[in-house]
Amino acid sequence: MGLSNAEIKKINRNNIFRYLLRSEVVSRNGIAHKLELTAPTVTSTLNELQEMGLVKEEGAMDSNGGRKSMGYSCNRDAKYAVGVNISKDYVDLAIVNLAMTPVCTKHKKIQIKGEEASYQWLQKFISDAITETRIAKKRILGICYALPAIIDESGRKIYGLHEEMDLPRNFYEIVKAWFSYPAVLRREAVCAGSAVANAMDIEAPVIYLNISPSVGGAVIKREGQVKLGLNCRKGEFGHITLVPHGKQCFCGRKGCVNAYCSTDNLTVFTGGDLSAFFEGIKEGRPEYVSAWEEYLDYLALTIHNLMTSFDERLILGGNLAKYLKPYMETIRERVAGYDHYLRDVSYLSYGALEFDTASIGAAGYFIDEYIKNI
Ligand SMILES: [Zn+2]
Repeated sequence: MGLSNAEIKKINRNNIFRYLLRSEVVSRNGIAHKLELTAPTVTSTLNELQEMGLVKEEGAMDSNGGRKSMGYSCNRDAKYAVGVNISKDYVDLAIVNLAMTPVCTKHKKIQIKGEEASYQWLQKFISDAITETRIAKKRILGICYALPAIIDESGRKIYGLHEEMDLPRNFYEIVKAWFSYPAVLRREAVCAGSAVANAMDIEAPVIYLNISPSVGGAVIKREGQVKLGLNCRKGEFGHITLVPHGKQCFCGRKGCVNAYCSTDNLTVFTGGDLSAFFEGIKEGRPEYVSAWEEYLDYLALTIHNLMTSFDERLILGGNLAKYLKPYMETIRERVAGYDHYLRDVSYLSYGALEFDTASIGAAGYFIDEYIKNI
């Protein structure tokens, strides 16, 4: 069965909007040429998008002789979304526009617990940030909360929470009552992975390994979508057994990737400060260097296991990512060392954003949903 007229119109609207979102100013002909659409289709779709307030005219564009044509751009600030990343000892918040550019970011070292004082603090933290941006209520699509937790597809039920976090299973009902905006919960690594893949403009599918005090991951499909899996834990790479009967993991089992690749293994020397650890490496402090050498071996083995399972592009992210540049060749060599069949490790990259990726990615949930339905 073919597509209905309305469906075709929606696909065109979506494609044109996404193209404008990635471009600066483009002409009608430019869009028609790039997306292989007819001029009348582009004209009518642009009219629709203008009526929706999503596209604006930018005046005549320069052309090589002949008639000047009107330039169009996307109204990136038509809508915004809020992302709140609640980690075991800090909270990050990002408000982003349709292009996923943050217009407000906040970081606070604090432990959010399942008690009234914490709830009041968090609600005010979010409310103050929104007020500060002066964005009209109707432009805010929703608030997404990223948690180190296994969360169901609906984004309402917490199946499992990081052992060091103290939040109730009905956390969704609590946050939902705070604001009139839609709310949703998402796993932290899923949010972070979507944000990094989007920012790097890497074509999905992509495997994302999130390396922070806890290790997680995500399997990202087209357009930043993720697959959560039958038990909503696809990409929970942190709890793959790396060393049988090995070091204790917070999950209760032994030898998990998390126990060996958590950045806690590095920051144990510096009271939790990752940048101080890498300063120590540069200074050649022997105990730092030997911990880093051991760490790199476990990381390479983890990457090898993931590449063998998925055979897709892999991005290293999380708090560790911004320190990885000088070490990527070493990591690639060690990964190749585990694999005698595959020598091409160029599929392995790293990605970090200026601000906390999980909160930006959390906000991206509502941006994605909105754009899909334009
Ligand atoms: Zn574990």
